[in-house]
Amino acid sequence: MPSATFDAQDVRVVWTSDEGSMAKQTAETRWAKIIQGTVEDIGQTAAEDVDDKKRAESIAIQIALKDIKKNIEQNKALTPLQDDGKHDIPEWNKQLAAIGECSWANCPWLFGECYMYRRIQRILNSSQNWQNYDVFKRQKDSTFVKSRAAVSELASHYIQIFADTAITQNESKEEAKKLLFIEMTEIALWGNATDLSLLANLTLEDLQNLQGREAIQKSQRNIVANDTDDVWGYLQRTAGQANRQIDIVLDNAGFELFTDVLYAVYLLDAGIATSVRLHTKEFPWFVSDVVPSDVEWLFEHLDSRECFPDREYLDQLIPRLRKFFQSGVITTTSDPFWTTPFSFHEMPSKAPALFKKLQGSYLAIFKGDLNYRKLTRDGLWPHTTRYEEALGPLGKQSGVKILALRTNKSDVCVGVSTQSKVDRLNEEAPGGAWIRNGKYAVVSFNEGQ
Ligand SMILES: [Mg+2]
Repeated sequence: MPSATFDAQDVRVVWTSDEGSMAKQTAETRWAKIIQGTVEDIGQTAAEDVDDKKRAESIAIQIALKDIKKNIEQNKALTPLQDDGKHDIPEWNKQLAAIGECSWANCPWLFGECYMYRRIQRILNSSQNWQNYDVFKRQKDSTFVKSRAAVSELASHYIQIFADTAITQNESKEEAKKLLFIEMTEIALWGNATDLSLLANLTLEDLQNLQGREAIQKSQRNIVANDTDDVWGYLQRTAGQANRQIDIVLDNAGFELFTDVLYAVYLLDAGIATSVRLHTKEFPWFVSDVVPSDVEWLFEHLDSRECFPDREYLDQLIPRLRKFFQSGVITTTSDPFWTTPFSFHEMPSKAPALFKKLQGSYLAIFKGDLNYRKLTRDGLWPHTTRYEEALGPLGKQSGVKILALRTNKSDVCVGVSTQSKVDRLNEEAPGGAWIRNGKYAVVSFNEGQ
């Protein structure tokens, strides 16, 4: 059992000045590039746009964006955000003041990175003609187009499995049901095209025999902390509960959103959930995070014959997805808290209504690396720290059932069962690669009791 015991507030959060950290690497190499990408995107859109006023204003926007880039490159101090008419600005500046003097290359990583996206948004909010513009849409589009083959493959896989309803309805198929749950959870976990190779990709037959179990075991090799059995146990124990609303706090648009919608549909088809609420961001965030328009856009693309000429399975799947959205069984929602710099340890005090909502949820699923960083306060916990502990106020006795599905892409990772396992991982993927390179993952669950 993991043994380390810590008070959450005593654990340092990672700073962009920490030697050898992913934080430092990100601040040094990725941030300026991301801003440069936004400058180019605005330029390209302005060149294509016929509206004179919009085009004229694009120059000032590009200058303001370049100014952020220069500030990052010259490691300037983080300065208070100027008013853009939105209510969240004072909170940002209060938080910045609480941190004290800091600069791009010497600040808490979580705050600095969130702050960068809010700085970009401030420029757009303050404009006349670019207020609702998604500066990352072009990038999101191109990534989705590249994963078309994977979308078709998953659609066919899903339809073929659910064509045989035996697996979801026959009580005697408990083991097959569990394997299907594991597989669908893993699809949502490794929700990007490049990682699909890690999946077992089982047929209906596989799910019902030993081979299926072996393939699943192999696919789970890179999950360094895996509470799937506990989640399944919880779901089985509580299956009789009348209201089983599941919340999914989304990460990325495009292919990952497709896998998340498919996961939601699976949870409903399998009778695990009675409804699903998808949480999006209010404004463009961490490049590829889902904003409300990305959901509409996903359906537009799935419907497009140009994008998906081979429609055999998609034409069976899409009406199924749409039906859940149209009947309100799947809903989407945004909360301003998701685009603040606060970790989720601050949720009970900063967003009490949201916290209450999640307490009432049957299961709150948090997707991706940023959500995990926020769940664990981006803290440099020993890797054997129990997940429950790293969740702080969202852990023990919080009343929130939290499942994190996260591929490891930053400095934090908890819940590894023993130090010898950590040592083994350090040998296998040295230099912290297993916490950073996206090839390892965690499936972490806590019941909040
Ligand atoms: Mg993201």
